[in-house]
Amino acid sequence: MPARKKEAATVHPFTPAEQRAARSERIKVYEAEPYGWIACSESGTERDYHLFREPTTKHLACTCADFVYRGNAEPGFECKHVSATLKFIARQYLAYEYDPRRQQARVA
Ligand SMILES: [Zn+2]
Repeated sequence: MPARKKEAATVHPFTPAEQRAARSERIKVYEAEPYGWIACSESGTERDYHLFREPTTKHLACTCADFVYRGNAEPGFECKHVSATLKFIARQYLAYEYDPRRQQARVA
């Protein structure tokens, strides 16, 4: 049906950031020794990457090619490993470290 085809064409595609966020769902994250995190894909088709907190910016940095090359051109770029690790850290924080009283102290 031509009318249906036209409708489908107007659907907005996901942005690259959204696609990466979706892909990050399939990445497992572990805490690494002695510091940082390891991100690996569940399919096992990709190698594991080491993530660490960049000392000056305090942002996560990844050792994958996507992050190393794209990150230089786009400040604030987040590869799928960074997205997955941020979610992992947030879950850990909520489960073990979040303290509403400390949050209040910061706001006051
Ligand atoms: Zn990466």
